[in-house]
Amino acid sequence: MQHDPAERIARWVRPKLLDLSSYHVPESGGYIKLDAMESPYPWPDDFVSAWLEKLRSISLNRYCDPTAGILRERLREFLQLPDSIDVMLGNGSDELIQILTLALGGHDRMLLSPEPGFVMYRMIATATGSDYAGVALNETDFSLNLPAMLEALERHQPAIVFIAYPNNPTGNLFKRQELEQIIEQAPGIVVIDEAYSAFASDSFMTDLDRYDNLLVMGTFSKMGFAGLRLGYLAGHVAWLEQFDKVRLPYNIGSVVQVTTVHALDHMDIFQNQAARIRADRSELLRSLASLEGVTTWDSETNFILFRVSTGRAGEVFAGLKSQGVLIKQLDGSHAALHDCLRVTVGTPEENRAFRDSLASLL
Ligand SMILES: *Cc1c(COP(=O)(O)O)cnc(C)c1O
Repeated sequence: MQHDPAERIARWVRPKLLDLSSYHVPESGGYIKLDAMESPYPWPDDFVSAWLEKLRSISLNRYCDPTAGILRERLREFLQLPDSIDVMLGNGSDELIQILTLALGGHDRMLLSPEPGFVMYRMIATATGSDYAGVALNETDFSLNLPAMLEALERHQPAIVFIAYPNNPTGNLFKRQELEQIIEQAPGIVVIDEAYSAFASDSFMTDLDRYDNLLVMGTFSKMGFAGLRLGYLAGHVAWLEQFDKVRLPYNIGSVVQVTTVHALDHMDIFQNQAARIRADRSELLRSLASLEGVTTWDSETNFILFRVSTGRAGEVFAGLKSQGVLIKQLDGSHAALHDCLRVTVGTPEENRAFRDSLASLL
């Protein structure tokens, strides 16, 4: 087998990477797609026409602005950041997690995060050869186990603590005072990942100048721009200068820069959609909670975590899929998520179709 690379792969790919499987995205064509926290609403026609007009002015034969200066300035205004705080942009917040990890992680550097949480923290830590520790949340309500978190800070001395606020896949906000205590006691930086801020009742974005080790991350993905790939990291200018050393110079292309500025010009459209989704979330939560054998958790996001009777999650997931509804199966991904599934809030029609299918399967 002259052309089989297996032997060299086994010899050269780092052992920890060999053990990792790549992030799996299921085939979703034709389904009512409620698996990935996307907005169910397409862009309005007049928004699209004005956007296409702006794209004409781009010279794609030239490199983009490597600092994305215009976009960053507009974003700083939108977030109302003080002078000492700037933003760094990434190809989705996933890239920012990678940049942070390349800058502060690596051999003999520990990264820490509560679990069950966002899986990219562990995957990127492993891919970059960093050490990683997960600290279990309390099982019944997925609140932080504060004593365990503080003990882990002391023992592991993590370079970075990643905390999704609200958390994915559990949908809840942790207690603000507990996060403040973690920020105060962490030896390194604390990154609060606010991917769902459009749907949440609290944010640390206005707390940035109170701490020297706090960074807050956001993304356009969950509010109508998942395909755009734009994430941002807000933090003290001095930290961002360091992280900028590992950012690839042209990581945000011209099309994304122009499109995001256009989005910021029309944020009211997307904020109204988010308000709509929050209202529909309450409705969906109520109708799920009324189903026998279904346990739900409150949500500060655009998805709902729920549990079905013992041993039935796989069957329910497959049954929904065969009826054309795709959600996320979480049973088996973490001990605390046994028999759990996660559904993204869609349009009212999609939510009803999902709810009726689910009822028929129980
Ligand atoms: C979806 C999600 C992200 C990733 O967002 P992108 O900007 O699309 O890369 C980050 N953090 C959490 C907690 C998420 O759920």
